[in-house]
Amino acid sequence: MKKISWITHPQYDIPLPKNHKFTASKFSDLYNELRVSNFFHRANILNPQKASVDDVSICHDLEYVLKIKNGNLSDKEMKRLGFTWSYTLSNRSFLAVNGTLLTCKEAIKSGIANHLAGGTHHSHRDFGSGYCVFNDMAYASLHLIKAKLVNKILIFDTDVHQGDGTASILKNNDKIFTCSIHCKNNFPFRKSISDMDVELDDNLEDDKYLEILYKTLNNCLKNFNPDLVIFDTGVDIHKNDKLGNLKITTEGLLKRDITVLEFFKNKSIPIATVIGGGYSNDKLELAKRHSLIFKATSMVFN
Ligand SMILES: [Zn+2]
Repeated sequence: MKKISWITHPQYDIPLPKNHKFTASKFSDLYNELRVSNFFHRANILNPQKASVDDVSICHDLEYVLKIKNGNLSDKEMKRLGFTWSYTLSNRSFLAVNGTLLTCKEAIKSGIANHLAGGTHHSHRDFGSGYCVFNDMAYASLHLIKAKLVNKILIFDTDVHQGDGTASILKNNDKIFTCSIHCKNNFPFRKSISDMDVELDDNLEDDKYLEILYKTLNNCLKNFNPDLVIFDTGVDIHKNDKLGNLKITTEGLLKRDITVLEFFKNKSIPIATVIGGGYSNDKLELAKRHSLIFKATSMVFN
């Protein structure tokens, strides 16, 4: 069976106070969950190198990048970000952007690759917000196009929250198409304008969701012909998610992932996946939800 590249790093976890809404250990929890899965033998595990300040400046203001590097964020900026600055947070932020870039490069080579992090879509050009320091999807897209590895990229964001940072950073870029399917009444309350926004009502359930998803996939390709898709697989659309307002079951989540993967695989368009958001007090349950995209990948790319 073909190996599938999984990109991760042992320094991805974020030190946070107890009772923080974000699960500090979610990246290592996910890795540990995947280690005991019956598809772990398919994994080709790769670690990214840290990005430089210059690298990150492709999608962020230099002043903001330096604040993250040196720990000069104001209290107000840290409040908006949702995290207190630490060296570990800074270090992992410079690693994770290259994690998504490496995932994209592996996907271009073999059709599919999965990042065990990424999807930090609330990060804007000059500020972080909603637990997102740097915008990995904008970062990876801009670097790939600059290096001429691809011409056109679709960012397909199915996290329950709108990809507002991605939309605003890439708003004038006609080589990158941003599509966000999100719940209207979830954060951010002031939305940006993506190339395609699909707003969902609270309490939406599996069948209707999957119908809208499929329609949106087709609509994206009517407008745009990508040579790579970055798929944000946020699991905060789950009915038990602490922040999301939708009512998608575990089975529905898996179906979403399979639907998207099959759609692009059938068109021979490479797919790089990132995990996006997910919130639960039960960290094992959260790791299981995030592991579904890896399961879906092993099923679709068998
Ligand atoms: Zn989210």
